[in-house]
Amino acid sequence: AQERYASIRDKPAEARCGTVVSLHMNAGLMADLPSLESSGAEGVGLFRTELQFLIRNQMPRRSELSALYARIMKAAQGKRVVFRTLDIGSDKVLPYMNSVDEPNPALGWRAIRVGLDKPGVLRMQLQALVRAAAGGPLTVMFPFIAQYEEWRAARAEMDKALERERILGHPLPASLEVGAMLETPSLAFASRRFFEEVEFISIGGNDLKQFFFAADRENELVRRRYDTLNVSFLSFIEQIVDRCAETGTPLSFCGEDAGRPIEALCLAAMGIRTLSMRPASIGPVKHLLRRAHLGELREVIAEAKARGEQSVRPAVMDHLRR
Ligand code: PEP
Ligand code: MG
Repeated sequence: AQERYASIRDKPAEARCGTVVSLHMNAGLMADLPSLESSGAEGVGLFRTELQFLIRNQMPRRSELSALYARIMKAAQGKRVVFRTLDIGSDKVLPYMNSVDEPNPALGWRAIRVGLDKPGVLRMQLQALVRAAAGGPLTVMFPFIAQYEEWRAARAEMDKALERERILGHPLPASLEVGAMLETPSLAFASRRFFEEVEFISIGGNDLKQFFFAADRENELVRRRYDTLNVSFLSFIEQIVDRCAETGTPLSFCGEDAGRPIEALCLAAMGIRTLSMRPASIGPVKHLLRRAHLGELREVIAEAKARGEQSVRPAVMDHLRR
């Protein structure tokens, strides 16, 4: 199987209908970067920055972070790396930060909520990223934005970081893209100016699905209860695609489903053109995409919906077998 994928490594994920889907990889460690080359990923669509904070017993220093981010950018050799700011809380607790006892951590004080309420760490991290990018491109996204004001406040922190670096006389990034993760249903209904202001949106499907179905992603009793190919969820994804299309906002999807071939295919059929996944999934997803016709698939999905089916999976599987 590895060899079959090696032969398509440098080929585009172009479906039979001619639509090209851009495949990126998720990462979280320096050690993940060699996979960029071996998997044929176009870039790092999600770099989770939590690990450097979780693996030690004290807060990492800005200089250490900055050096690490610079090494990652260098190892990417010009490919785009989307750095996601710290996403702690919920299941990820820092041993050196006072943890709060919350009845529902997944719905609690986590990610950008912590970053905005106690901005010291977010500021340090943004500064480290800006400094690491010096003279080169920088792409940053904020996790768990639930409403426009949170985006505004987080974006303002980025401007402050740039201003501080400018005053210090350090070189600024040559180009900057700042985006938001769409992980709470509320954000899909945000005002138009949110979609206009962000430079890109990345759907965090793991969290989005957990909140859409109200099914805890950590709870074995319910986590597999609702199918990603459930018609309600796919319709919701389609709505997000439409809203982004209205404002020309680039949209990607970076949850685990992006790395599951059938799910990836359906997301592409709903209009998602950029997927980010574990490096090992790029081959299988590309293989299937190159054999698929997204327009036909879209019709199969629409027909299953019209028949009132709960999940489009049986119809899609049947179509793929033929
Ligand atoms: C997600 O929620 O889909 C996501 C990519 O972020 P994480 O899995 O780190 O919460
Ligand atoms: Mg998430």
